Amino acid sequence: MYRSPVDDILFTLKHVAGLADDAHVDADIVEAVIQEAGRFCDETIAPSAASGDRQGARLANGDVRAPDGWPDIYRQWAEAGWNGLAAPEAYGGQGLPHRLHIAAMEIWNGGSMAFALAPMLTTGAAEALAAHGSEALKATFLPNMVSGIWTGTMNLTEPHAGSDLGTLRTRAERRDDGSYRIFGQKIYITWGEHDLTDNIVHLVLARLADAPEGTRGISLFLVPKFLVNADGSLGARNDLFCHSIEDKLGIHASPTCTMIYGDGRFGAEPGAIGYLVGQENRGLACMFTMMNNARLAVGAQGVAMADAATQAALAYARERKQGKAPGSAAASPIIDHPDIARTLLAMKALTQGARAITYLCAEAVDRAHAADGEDKAHWQDRAALLTPIAKSFPTDVGVEVASLGIQVHGGMGYVEETGAARLLRDARIAPIYEGTNGIQAIDLVTRKLPLGHGAQVRGLIADLQAIAATVPASSNGTEMAQGEWGETGLKLSRALGHLSAATEWLMAEIAADRMTEALCGATSYQRLFGLALSGVLLAKGALVDAGDGRQDQRIALCRFFADHHLGEAAALAETICHGAASLKAARIALV
Ligand SMILES: Cc1cc2nc3c(=O)[nH]c(=O)nc-3n(C[C@H](O)[C@H](O)[C@H](O)COP(=O)(O)OP(=O)(O)OC[C@H]3O[C@@H](n4cnc5c(N)ncnc54)[C@H](O)[C@@H]3O)c2cc1C
Repeated sequence: MYRSPVDDILFTLKHVAGLADDAHVDADIVEAVIQEAGRFCDETIAPSAASGDRQGARLANGDVRAPDGWPDIYRQWAEAGWNGLAAPEAYGGQGLPHRLHIAAMEIWNGGSMAFALAPMLTTGAAEALAAHGSEALKATFLPNMVSGIWTGTMNLTEPHAGSDLGTLRTRAERRDDGSYRIFGQKIYITWGEHDLTDNIVHLVLARLADAPEGTRGISLFLVPKFLVNADGSLGARNDLFCHSIEDKLGIHASPTCTMIYGDGRFGAEPGAIGYLVGQENRGLACMFTMMNNARLAVGAQGVAMADAATQAALAYARERKQGKAPGSAAASPIIDHPDIARTLLAMKALTQGARAITYLCAEAVDRAHAADGEDKAHWQDRAALLTPIAKSFPTDVGVEVASLGIQVHGGMGYVEETGAARLLRDARIAPIYEGTNGIQAIDLVTRKLPLGHGAQVRGLIADLQAIAATVPASSNGTEMAQGEWGETGLKLSRALGHLSAATEWLMAEIAADRMTEALCGATSYQRLFGLALSGVLLAKGALVDAGDGRQDQRIALCRFFADHHLGEAAALAETICHGAASLKAARIALV
């Protein structure tokens, strides 16, 4: 069963994502929070994951029930104060760094991704409300959302409006009392209805009749399941309900709901009562406050799935005996076979690289929060640049590593008994929601590379080159001594050279308005960036002697990654800079 990787998380937070020398944060608090989150998860959430997956969420007469026991687990979790880790203290939160929130998110997801989705969306919704809501709305809803007494949702998707939200049709009408009435259908709404809490606060994107076309005509509304009386007690049921829940590949315990707003079944007058968040027609910008941090939290889901899969595969590979490894006289545990060792090392290195990227992006969010002036703008841009990579690379790694985990288990991975299959089923959604990874690649190439006329991305690559330059050169004998870096430094700088060349090529294509050419290579570029970042961040950690006796392991893993994975960088750069013509020509093969 999953054990929260507390030591790895703490190490990465401190030595890769800057918490060790952050004067704003007490190291003891960081340790205490992560240790305690790990304990809660291992004792309470993780043991419920397999049964929750088997039973799933159930719908009857418009009511959705979470798996047996889950309302109680959620109550214990919220009462322990976990929901408000990074939320503002003014609303009952603890105001801790975003890095801690993301690390805790990784832990909850490692225990059960289906469970963690409820708090993930609640904290995102609370964040959007805190940033854009009126004082009255914040006073009424935020304290209960920060404490987790109520959950929050994010209602964007409609049947014809997925990646392209500009086409959404859910309608909003103004009322004289300043409220609005909402009418329409939303699909795929995570934890849109459930029995974990008494109330659910929906954030809904909708369009006013006189709104401009497209994304400039979308407004954001807060639409509670139950209206709230002046004294804070729950009032009438609002005119919205869950029509159905999806039968889907994974995250079975997380209800994915079709929500109907304003069909007149509740209340005197048809229309779900909603309250404007931010300004009319500026809803998408408000929602992006939520979506950027939600993207980072989805990245943490990928890390969590990858870590859980690695733990399970390692345990199985130590137990399972098959064949004789080279030099062995008796049946060997499969971990002794070079190919299985290679697979496990790939799983471990990819997981740790993905974790480092996610926390690095959270560090940029924290630094932007703490800084002012030019410094603030710099860190905001750094976070913006890293967000698509921190969403896509870890979620792709989550799928890749969960799939490798099944391979290590052989046939036992394909049957449900070991839990390896559940991890792959659960992990598979993360590259799809919160903006598909293809959409992240477009964002990275077309909106993030041009930040500061390219200064931000060049600055990041220069920072990475400076780290790579500090990796010591050491002998590259095949029977190497522990702690030797081999050609790691050289391979890191080569990978960064390919990243830099591909970056300049893409920026030139964009400047020349050759968008098709640039977009042909966008996903390859995103992967290249993720690989190069992983390699450098693994090195950044391995350069630190944290006094835990594990530095040699870290160096060895980093060297393995450089030898076995960074070779891909050259091929990716080649595809990015020279692959557009053949991609365009080969479209005839799709006819
Ligand atoms: C389990 C689950 C939970 C979800 N939870 C929520 C939720 O809580 N709230 C919510 O609002 N939504 C939610 N979603 C919806 C999710 O965010 C969307 O499925 C996602 O945004 C993709 O939209 P789509 O499914 O319509 O795919 P489409 O937009 O139709 O995309 C199909 C494919 O085309 C590609 N594509 C689309 N447009 C472009 C383009 N311009 N350029 C290049 N490629 C493109 C995509 O990358 C994708 O590969 C959830 C979905 C699922 C399955």
